Amino acid sequence: RSVRALLERQALERPDATYAICPETGRELSFGRLARASLSLAALLASQGLAAGDRVGLFLPNGLQALRLFVGTMAAGCVATPLSLLAQPQQLAYVLEHSDCRVVFVAPGQRATLEDALARIGRHIAVVVVDPDDDAVPGEDAAAAGAVWPLTEPLRDGEALMMYTSGTTGRPKGAVLSQRNVLAGARFVSDAHELGPADRVLAVLPLYHINAQIVTALAPLLHGGSLVLPRRFSVGAFWGLAEEYRCTWLNVVPTMIAYLLDAPDRTTAPAGVRFCRSASAPLAPELHRAFEARFGIGVIETMGLTETAAPVFSNPLDPARRRIGSPGRAFGCEARVVDPATGRPVRDGVPGEIQIRGDNVMLGYYKAPDETAKGLGDDGWLRTGDLGYRDADGFYFITGRLKELIIKGGENIAPREIDEALLRHPGVLEAAAVGVPDPAYGQEIEAAVVLRPGASSSEAELQGFCRVELGPFKTPRAIRIVQALPKGPSGKVQRLKLLDGVTA
Ligand code: ATP
Repeated sequence: RSVRALLERQALERPDATYAICPETGRELSFGRLARASLSLAALLASQGLAAGDRVGLFLPNGLQALRLFVGTMAAGCVATPLSLLAQPQQLAYVLEHSDCRVVFVAPGQRATLEDALARIGRHIAVVVVDPDDDAVPGEDAAAAGAVWPLTEPLRDGEALMMYTSGTTGRPKGAVLSQRNVLAGARFVSDAHELGPADRVLAVLPLYHINAQIVTALAPLLHGGSLVLPRRFSVGAFWGLAEEYRCTWLNVVPTMIAYLLDAPDRTTAPAGVRFCRSASAPLAPELHRAFEARFGIGVIETMGLTETAAPVFSNPLDPARRRIGSPGRAFGCEARVVDPATGRPVRDGVPGEIQIRGDNVMLGYYKAPDETAKGLGDDGWLRTGDLGYRDADGFYFITGRLKELIIKGGENIAPREIDEALLRHPGVLEAAAVGVPDPAYGQEIEAAVVLRPGASSSEAELQGFCRVELGPFKTPRAIRIVQALPKGPSGKVQRLKLLDGVTA
């Protein structure tokens, strides 16, 4: 019904069971403690004059504090507004202003950036500095057993979470998700991966991204499982943490798969790890197969969006029924492919724009009725902007994003096809192709690659490789060898930033 009702149920049924562990401090958080901390957070918010539905900014690194504030804000009846640690003061000021945030919880390490942002805003926003590793919430003792929630319980369609999309095109938009939406996302994850109280996830993605919020914070709250939450992802620590804390599943993005494969030492995943979930960006089939062969566990590719509270498609757990190269089938929501020109659904096998409808689809973009109308039809179908097709068995195949599609001489070229060809080159670790304006063709293809440590190659050699793999028409006109690609909060490559010559 609501995050509060769910939290209360878990606190009653399994008060002492572990919900989260922080490896750096060795501290653990139980469901009972999480419920008490949420109650005291609600008291704190009410004492600051906040009412149900008010926005609460969260600007801190991963840790038990960030997790507790995230769940607690939604349980209290306010709207959690996690802020990206990658945001510069100017972007942060925009989001704080636009979101109508009343209060921001900040870690000491983020305070200077926040102050810089606040100085650019006319409005007063209260600031609460918190220790990211501390497991005491101010006033927690006062909120002992018997205390009542000061703010009314949010309705199912009441706002719970507001996430600003990274804004690779234009201003960031605040996707508003309801209590129903976030719980539907969590339900999808728990059901699709058959998760239960014995399951524990290694959660290495940032909590200011929808994936970590729904997949590794809310799904375990729903199925009574737990998460191991290190401060950040580290190739060197990854398998050791999975082993030490007896994780049963892993949640990563494709970039992490590439980096884990590139590390020389470890050969198999610890016993007890059932699978590795991948989402947020397409997983190249070569990486998928190499990871399974090297580490001996299956990769479950899935797909999600901020606007759909993370998941929309998932592959099944059964390896015989998985499709490499596909993020899977619609699960817990409806999906269809439409012709972007006419808006009419197309037959299986025919490419078009992917649309989603269901309990996980957002309420809309905050204070942006035009953007909401563009993205969300009256009939409830969300236009994802993703291009792809469905096969006869219901598996979706994503070819790219409408806004990233390269149109060269009238020919539609999915940048993913170019990326994947470059990734087949033994020296290439990461690759991203992009369409650039060209007087003769309308658009030409250019690409940027990161080489594996110790590998050497040249633009001419990579182009020669592409000519064999892709033919001359699809071979990039230029291939830059760079140190790093520009990435968003989930580690996803922001290929349109390459147009501005941006590399990380
Ligand atoms: P924006 O540019 O709108 O800010 P974003 O990348 O920050 O976008 P997210 O909501 O994090 O926004 O990402 C959702 C998008 O990620 C999907 O629309 C899809 O393009 C892509 N995506 C996620 N998982 C997969 C997958 N398994 N395969 C292909 N694409 C995926």
